[in-house]
Amino acid sequence: MNLPTATQINLYHVCHRQLWLHSHEIRMEQESDMVYEGKLIGENTYARRSNQWREVDLGHIKIDHYDPRNKIVKEVKKSNKLEAAYIAQVKYYIYYLERNGEQDVTGLIEYPKLRRTVEVELTDDDRHLIPLWQDEIRKILDSDECPTLVRKNYCKTCSYHDFCYAQ
Ligand code: SF4
Repeated sequence: MNLPTATQINLYHVCHRQLWLHSHEIRMEQESDMVYEGKLIGENTYARRSNQWREVDLGHIKIDHYDPRNKIVKEVKKSNKLEAAYIAQVKYYIYYLERNGEQDVTGLIEYPKLRRTVEVELTDDDRHLIPLWQDEIRKILDSDECPTLVRKNYCKTCSYHDFCYAQ
């Protein structure tokens, strides 16, 4: 299997079942899923990217906002309800920027609607954990079985809600 994408890292921290469904191209018509809201914010609020920020394509991950001068990677999101997943995603960006020769990179998560910014750092623990996340993601996706439903508050706003709760 190829290296996990940033979306897969994000979904791994939200719901293993959603990770499996999304990665197996099982998509719902409704694309209101909060996991994708950041993408919409990024396209609308930041349609005109300032010169400070560059798009970086590392193959399995594409970073929308990287400031190479100040070594800051930025992710823009609408809501902070899935913040742990967003933090994991930004750590994943930093991890691969490091592996591509960029040192001392830090991260920011901006919530324009909340007027809030969160700083993200990659720690030695994270450097140890990220390969374990990748191994677990591979195991989940290699399985023919969709992970069983684990009820969580987030299910109410998940695009797979009707699919998961139909029975
Ligand atoms: S509805 Fe709940 S269990 Fe189903 S994919 Fe979404 S978050 Fe996961």
